Amino acid sequence: MQRFDAIVIGGGLVGSAISYGLVRAGLKTALIDEGDVAFRASRGNFGLVWVQSKGLGAPHYQRWTRLSSDEWPGLAAELLRGTGVDVGHERPGGVHLCLSDEELADRQTRMEQMRTEAGNFGFEYRMLERAELRAILPGVGDAVVGASWTPYDGHANPLYLLHALHKGFVERGGRYIPNRVVDYAGVAPNDFQLGSGAEALVAPKIVLAAGLGNAKLAPLFGLDAPVRPQRGQILVTERASRLFGMPTTTVRQTREGGIMIGDSMEDVGFDTSQRPDVMAAMAERAVRSFPWLAELQVVRAWAALRVMPPDGLPIYDESEKFRGAFTANCHSGVTLAAAHANAFAPMVAAGALDTMIGAFSARRFDVSHAA
Ligand SMILES: Cc1cc2nc3c(=O)[nH]c(=O)nc-3n(C[C@H](O)[C@H](O)[C@H](O)COP(=O)(O)OP(=O)(O)OC[C@H]3O[C@@H](n4cnc5c(N)ncnc54)[C@H](O)[C@@H]3O)c2cc1C
Repeated sequence: MQRFDAIVIGGGLVGSAISYGLVRAGLKTALIDEGDVAFRASRGNFGLVWVQSKGLGAPHYQRWTRLSSDEWPGLAAELLRGTGVDVGHERPGGVHLCLSDEELADRQTRMEQMRTEAGNFGFEYRMLERAELRAILPGVGDAVVGASWTPYDGHANPLYLLHALHKGFVERGGRYIPNRVVDYAGVAPNDFQLGSGAEALVAPKIVLAAGLGNAKLAPLFGLDAPVRPQRGQILVTERASRLFGMPTTTVRQTREGGIMIGDSMEDVGFDTSQRPDVMAAMAERAVRSFPWLAELQVVRAWAALRVMPPDGLPIYDESEKFRGAFTANCHSGVTLAAAHANAFAPMVAAGALDTMIGAFSARRFDVSHAA
């Protein structure tokens, strides 16, 4: 039987960021990951560190996302210093392109609502006309009528991020246990025993960060994680010379030069197959936005499943029944990686979630509780 201060289930971006934060806080931590048989959003995402569309009607989500965006440069620098891995983070701001007057008017209404809801916290944005946009994104097409811009947005290489978090975790003394599924769980407040193969792991704290796997795991620990899969497809072109000054919501250029085109939102259950009609629609919009993209070959394409809570906002909780059991779920694990490492993990280490994330409890889905 091996004793730890904390065990994290799930080695995707959410579990890895939290595990990294826990070892950095001095907790002896084990990270159990099922491995490549599982659905892994962390290996199939678009790589945005995105703020501008987060939290319409839910300003606490905007604040949490902004906190993460602000923490990102520090986390990226720390990972580079500690692990030698450059996660490719850039925060030049970002734009959301609008391809019709209706889209532009709707976008402006949303952005203004975000600003109003932000209150004293503030929300800086501007609507850009095509001429202004051309200076930032050369070759933007005539079909683009305008865009919204905020300074908070950026992007990173999500695979390097996952690698750096794992490396940093292990180098700081964390125990990474891959290709393991939890077979049984002995659950009591601040006393958790997990069986995985012949090994038994014991800890007073446990964090469920198993992505779509959390829906099944959470009830065992007196928690609720009603996440569902939502498919997204992505296309990547051959490399081109660096043209994009900043990422857009659906087209971005990687540091290496490839253009990523994303990303659909499809409610198709646990189906990771690719759909040519969806890919064609994505490519068609991308080419209308940047006609020169039509010259490039698409060299890779894939589909992956988002971890989607019912209202799209993250779910963070500590079990009321079994103190010491926490859960973390979200569909923006790249964006929120810095919040998870630098804010959520310290809360778990300290033994209680801060009231600043209280509104993210799954109790918000409980009608009797809400009443
Ligand atoms: C197409 C697409 C585009 C996206 N674009 C962006 C973006 O631009 N920006 C952004 O911020 N986010 C984006 N996301 C979302 C982001 O990828 C996810 O929020 C994030 O990866 C979720 O990480 P996770 O660790 O919760 O889940 P996962 O990556 O799914 O990892 C869960 C892990 O838990 C393990 N596991 C499951 N069950 C068990 C078990 N019982 N025992 C042990 N281990 C278990 C699995 O092996 C897996 O490794 C996108 C997602 C998709 C699909």
